[in-house]
Amino acid sequence: MDTPVALVPALRDNYVALLHSPNGRNVAIIDPSEADPVKRFLEERDLQPVAIFNTHHHPDHVGGNRELQKAYDLPVYGAAEDRDRIPGLTHPMYDGDRVTPPGLDRVGILWDIPGHTRTHTAFLFPEDELVFAGDTLFVAGCGRLFEGSAEQMETSLSRLAGLPDSTQVYCGHEYTVKNLEFALAVEPDNGEIAEKLQWAREKRRKEEPTLPSTIGAEKRTNPFLRVREPAVREAAGGRGAADSDPVSVFAALRDWKDRF
Ligand SMILES: [Zn+2]
Repeated sequence: MDTPVALVPALRDNYVALLHSPNGRNVAIIDPSEADPVKRFLEERDLQPVAIFNTHHHPDHVGGNRELQKAYDLPVYGAAEDRDRIPGLTHPMYDGDRVTPPGLDRVGILWDIPGHTRTHTAFLFPEDELVFAGDTLFVAGCGRLFEGSAEQMETSLSRLAGLPDSTQVYCGHEYTVKNLEFALAVEPDNGEIAEKLQWAREKRRKEEPTLPSTIGAEKRTNPFLRVREPAVREAAGGRGAADSDPVSVFAALRDWKDRF
């Protein structure tokens, strides 16, 4: 298979990602918003789940934890700081910890990338060039600031942007079309954004996911990773950015997008 990741659509616009072991038989479940579609997917394909990874505590990311844990006796990996908010957490973890559930045969690293929530986890698989970014980095967008600050989020996004360009990015929601419409409003002259918007609309017409993206593509099309670009700084200036530094530009863009 060209990617070891499968996507299970859940709720209205969530994705539950499944990361396969190299032999294809075992999977880690990332952010099970609900259990039923995941159970069906596993049963139809005779897959054995070996772990749950949670990027953050929101119900549309942990809602299926208990039922899946009960059905398959699964360890749950997530941020130690969220031990009271992630149901069934068995492996409380900290920034830089290695994630190696038995049976997955892949080596993950946990990053704390706060901003959407006061703690938010990315599961990074450097050897496989994969990152599960939850609700921090979306295709052409980023998560809302529910508990964190603009400064935290800008730092978290910059950290992700530092990964190799070829890294594949999986996120928690199908927001791509709306995000690209916003990106085009910020940068009307960015041809790659316009092209990608057409492509994404076509994918959605066929009810296909627009994931994964890559870090390289995000650096070229995602306004929230482009806060140092003159065109983006100028657009943010017209929307009340207090200054031209990356955090002020980010804060103005985020505020603009919240009302877009
Ligand atoms: Zn969330």
